[in-house]
Amino acid sequence: MQSLILTDEQLQRMIAHVASHAPLEACGLLAGCGSKVETVIEVTNQAQSPVRYVMDPIEQLNAFEWIESNGLDLIGIFHSHPSGPETVSPTDIAEAAYAVVYVILARANGVWKPRGFWIENGGFHEVALEIA
Ligand SMILES: [Zn+2]
Repeated sequence: MQSLILTDEQLQRMIAHVASHAPLEACGLLAGCGSKVETVIEVTNQAQSPVRYVMDPIEQLNAFEWIESNGLDLIGIFHSHPSGPETVSPTDIAEAAYAVVYVILARANGVWKPRGFWIENGGFHEVALEIA
């Protein structure tokens, strides 16, 4: 996937979610169709850690069922890096289990900056985020 299309409202919802949990990492899912995000789903970070995230498995399962029952696909997973870096971490690469866009919201100087990545075969490349 070369780009992920989302609305400013969806982006602001992700930022509000991760900001409210900083300095801990926060996470969630992006449901949509093709490359267009339809719904932001917040998921509890079971790890309660400032440097990693583990999605609550029950919430994740419920979200997957909701996505399927609404005729959507899982197209993205987002999480925060409250203390950076702006890019994927070795842990993110090691734990990437889905063929979806990984959106990382990194905080620098109090500002949250979103970037999208495709992680595959131990590597990654950037995916443009289009705010429509
Ligand atoms: Zn990460």
